[in-house]
Amino acid sequence: MGEFELISRYFANCGAKRSDAALGVGDDGAVLQVRDGYDLVVTTDTMVVGTHFFPDDEPRALGHKLVAVNVSDLAAMGAEPAWLSLALTLPAVDEVWLSAFAAGLSETADYYQCQLVGGDTTRGPMSLTMVAKGTVPRGKALTRSGAKVGDYIYVTGTLGDAALGLKLCQGLHEVSKKHQSHILQRFHYPSARVALGQALRNLASSAMDLSDGLYSDIQHILKRSNVGASIDVSRLPLSQALKDSCDTGTALQLALSGGEDYELLFTVPEARRGSLDVLLSPYGIPVTCIGRITGVAGKLELKQGDQAFDYQHQGFVHFS
Ligand SMILES: [Mg+2]
Repeated sequence: MGEFELISRYFANCGAKRSDAALGVGDDGAVLQVRDGYDLVVTTDTMVVGTHFFPDDEPRALGHKLVAVNVSDLAAMGAEPAWLSLALTLPAVDEVWLSAFAAGLSETADYYQCQLVGGDTTRGPMSLTMVAKGTVPRGKALTRSGAKVGDYIYVTGTLGDAALGLKLCQGLHEVSKKHQSHILQRFHYPSARVALGQALRNLASSAMDLSDGLYSDIQHILKRSNVGASIDVSRLPLSQALKDSCDTGTALQLALSGGEDYELLFTVPEARRGSLDVLLSPYGIPVTCIGRITGVAGKLELKQGDQAFDYQHQGFVHFS
């Protein structure tokens, strides 16, 4: 048995055991059963060493993050996560690294009720690719193209924490002892807003998850929906940890242009706004209205209260 064949042993029983995976790891392909009346939603994300993570990053956290960022895309589509596949490229076989990575992957997959149903391993510079598949009632998937003029714009959770976590890891920003664990948790162990995404199916006109930062991500909704947006930066939800660690300018910079928050960005028509609190309160995750959709296609207007907010956007680069 070759060493790369040995690796597959670590992933033989990864994540939840699902009855709708008729055939999982070990064959040439997986056989998956999609329920009648449901659509299949498929997404993929890659994490490359030196671009998305450091070579000495905690392998358990990498396993977690790879699952969470993929499941976050399913959450943004309003889908229920179900099956994962993994393509793993490694420079060498390090069993200590592998068992920690597989453990992180498995516990997070299990948390989201996903089963790892297949994968491939090759030798090369470290790169982690996952394909995540989920299901959504037919025709109910959330998309980026449904925002209409006058819709209210919302985000879940808080923004900018993960970007501060990256700066902290890079030694570029100090964070007090009291807030360090929260900030590092947000960076290394992001949460996918799965239950909330499903609750948005009958509420939101458009949705996506925030991976590259609000300022650049919202442009995808504006483009696909052919609308504009007005955002009040004084309403952006900031954690106490972020506010205590940065001046206001830096906090807003991280909230607008920092990546990897994996919160949901969504729009809600005025007529459905009244039921939002009732429908979303059981999930225990704050949702904040930050602005409205406008008719000026492609234009993102930033305000601070009733003043124009002059902002120099710098695109989010993981390792700059
Ligand atoms: Mg996404």
